This record gives sequence, structure tokens and C-alpha cells, in this order.
Amino acid sequence: MTTGQAYDLVIIGGGPGGLSAGIYAKRAAMNTVLVEKGVTGGQVVMSDEVENYPGFEHTSGAELAMKFLEHAQAYGLEILSQEVSEVEPGLNHHHVHLADGTTLDTHAVILATGGSPRKLAIPGEDEYYGRGVSYCAVCDGFFFRNKTVVVVGGGDTATEEALYLAKLAAKVYLVHRRDELRASKILQKRVMDDCNIEILWNTVATAIKAGSDGVEAISLEDTLSGEARELPTDGVFIFIGFDPNNEVVPAGVRMNADGYVMTDEKCETAIKGLFAIGDLREKYARQIVISAADGSTAALAAAHYVETQKSSSADSCAIPADLVEESAN
Ligand code: NAP
Repeated sequence: MTTGQAYDLVIIGGGPGGLSAGIYAKRAAMNTVLVEKGVTGGQVVMSDEVENYPGFEHTSGAELAMKFLEHAQAYGLEILSQEVSEVEPGLNHHHVHLADGTTLDTHAVILATGGSPRKLAIPGEDEYYGRGVSYCAVCDGFFFRNKTVVVVGGGDTATEEALYLAKLAAKVYLVHRRDELRASKILQKRVMDDCNIEILWNTVATAIKAGSDGVEAISLEDTLSGEARELPTDGVFIFIGFDPNNEVVPAGVRMNADGYVMTDEKCETAIKGLFAIGDLREKYARQIVISAADGSTAALAAAHYVETQKSSSADSCAIPADLVEESAN
């Protein structure tokens, strides 16, 4: 294992939260690096339409992510394209171990690793992923032009993606396990008004079936009557929430029962100098604007933490330990 450069702050994850933290950290003159293993921009890149980020009445996730990135780079944010394998907390410094064997020493860490799409865990889901099963309408919708697709879920993501698919597909079935959507009222209205979308209420998916050309049908069950049936479809898009990417959250950090990191109002975890933001952090709502706000909060708090750390170590250097002992006697 080689030891790399020492930093004031290491940000793990390059979504809206991580990039916002990067902008604030650089403006606070912190020696900062952002580590991202995949595409900078995070999950938002997959959103076709974003209509609720203040100042942007209508944009795409990819465009917004690009603006975040350009903004962070304008302040000289260093970005490392690497995977973090472990975060090892220390008393004065934390250590961020990378998959290539490098270790970054840092005063503070901001965990901004986001979340991943939740799975239905039904037969056929893993097997036919990429052959009709998808978790991204923007990525795969094109392949279902004039075809029939099933969208599973009732939240903002499922309804947004169903609306997107309704513009391409011949027919969209929205399968929801209750008799009321969780999505915001405006999205609910749009889905109900779209004559290309049929909502199958009180219905759960139990299996996905495929032939040699990919998905052919989905098995459904009515939660009220228990009646089972098979619905022919060319694709199944699953949007039933997501789980936090907490693999590198170190022991000692408190998490709730669902695996979201618990922090104080500064986004600081139970370990000093270790912050968690965005979709990884336990919170009421998960929105781009909230992740960005978390990033700014954590970076400002981290700047204060780093300054305190540095000034206290400078103080202890200024007065030799033996003199301190003498004056105490
Ligand atoms: P979500 O709000 O948690 O909704 C998940 C949906 O999937 C719910 O309707 C849930 O049903 C259903 N579900 C969960 N597990 C299921 C299972 N095993 N089988 C069948 N259905 C299941 O997740 P999300 O839609 O991904 O949204 C996540 C967060 O991002 C939310 O805070 C949302 O507001 C936000 N978001 C915002 C926007 C936007 O503002 N433009 C866009 C996308 C997402 P129940 O309702 O019965 O629990």
C-alpha cells in the first residue's frame, strides 16, 4: 500500500452533493480531492427531466450535472477517478484507501456515495436484466419504441419514468401495490391524464418471463383478491426506491435500520471530521436540491473542523510539552 498526498478534505462521490461540497470546500481554500468511481454527476444523470431545481425551470439531469461539474472545476477541484475500498478513521487524520492501493491522508471526509435502485427480488429480474428488465428509462426507453412496457412502483421516480416511456412506447402499465400513488400530486395528475398509461392498482409483480428475444410477460397478483395473471410485455422497468450505498461507511458511524447514515445538523457523523450527505444520509426527502444543500453544509462544517484541528496542532507545537508540564506544576 502506498501513501498518497495529504489533504484537508476528501469527498467520496461525485453527485450533486459531492460536487456542491467541492465548490464550497475550494471556496474555503481547503486542499480538497473528490474521488468518484463511475460517472461524475451521480444518479441525476439518468433523469430525463428536472423541473424542480431552483433557477432551472426545465433541464435534464445530465445538463444539470454538467453544470455542477463545470462549476466545481472552475474553482480547481481535483477529481480522482478511483474506487474507495475503505475509510479508516483516525484520531487526528482519517485514511481513505483506494482500490489501486493508494492511501489518502486527510483531516476530514465527506461521504457522498448516494444510493442504488432497489430490486424487486423476483424470479427473472436478475436473469433478464439488460434483456428487457431495466432500472433506467432514459437509458433503455429507446429500445421500446411502439412496444408495451410495465413500470413497477408508485413514487416520483416510477411516475416520471412512466411519463417518459409513454412518449415512446405503444402502451405503459404502471403496476402499484396500493390504491394510491406515493408520487407528488403534480406527477399523479400527469400520469392519470396520460391516456397511454394504465395504472394497475393493488397489484404486485411476482415473476418476469422471457423467451429467446428477451422479456415476454410479467406475472402479477391482485393484493386484494389474490388473483394471479400474466400480462404480456416487452419490457419491465423497476422503480421501487433505492438503498443507500453504505459499503465504505466505517464502523462507529451510526446508521438507521434501513442503512442510512445518521448525522447532526452539520451533516457530521458520530465520528469527528467524518460527514455524510445526500441520499446516503437519513432525511425526510431525497431531492437534488437537498443533496446540494447537504454538500454546502458539510463543506462549511468541515472547513471549520479542519481549521480547528490545524490551529490546535499549531498551538501544541508552539508550546513544547515539557514547558506545558512545567507551568502546570
Ligand atoms: P420512493 O418515493 O421510496 O417510492 C418507491 C415506490 O415503490 C413506492 O410507491 C413504493 O410503494 C413502491 N415499492 C417499494 N418497494 C416495493 C416492492 N417491493 N414492491 C412493489 N412496490 C414497491 O422512491 P423513488 O420514487 O425512487 O423516490 C425516491 C426519492 O427521490 C423520493 O424522496 C422522491 O420524492 C425523490 N425523487 C424526486 C424527484 C423529483 O422531484 N423530480 C424525482 C425522482 C425521485 P408504497 O408507496 O406502497 O410504499
